[in-house]
Amino acid sequence: MAAEHGGGDKPADVRVEAGSSAEPRGAAAATGGMSQEDCVAGIRSALQHPTVRFLRERMEKAGCQVWPRLIQAATCSTAGGYASGAGVKVCCNHMRFQDEINQVLIHELIHAYDDCVGKNLDWKNCAHHACSEIRANHLSGDCHYKRELLRGFMKIRGHEQDCVKRRALMSVRNNPYCSESSAKDAIEAVWDICYNDTRPFDRAP
Ligand SMILES: [Zn+2]
Repeated sequence: MAAEHGGGDKPADVRVEAGSSAEPRGAAAATGGMSQEDCVAGIRSALQHPTVRFLRERMEKAGCQVWPRLIQAATCSTAGGYASGAGVKVCCNHMRFQDEINQVLIHELIHAYDDCVGKNLDWKNCAHHACSEIRANHLSGDCHYKRELLRGFMKIRGHEQDCVKRRALMSVRNNPYCSESSAKDAIEAVWDICYNDTRPFDRAP
């Protein structure tokens, strides 16, 4: 894990980032989030989370790059991000609780897993990006009902899939290669396959 301040890095070429959107009630940016020190300690602690450990084990087995190089504590405009070649960013200015760090880390590690294990994954392809977002939002517990209640989305029945769709759409439409309508179409097109693809888990954790 690199405890570097990542806010100043400007990539030379266009990178497609699978950014995690910070939704209104989930965003701590207005209050500045936690200190970089606390955040780095929180990332260190998140590395011991059973789901994170499991993902690491599976990625190592598949020959993927794992930390320390993969994960960065950063300051950025979203909650977190993953980019091919650049790895995972946890955006400390958006983090308030350990639980949020765990969740963002798991979400971004699913993208890292997909990037490594998925054959010829192309982040410029809206369907590929949509698939990874569906999986990341589903498998990270981003849409657990307790989190949805905190965000002010109170509908319980069917909420989980609505939430995964909503959050996947927010990310895919931010992809410069995908318009709003192509993002929507891509999510619908790959939904069944990608929602039911829970690798490396037997079922959604
Ligand atoms: Zn994502």
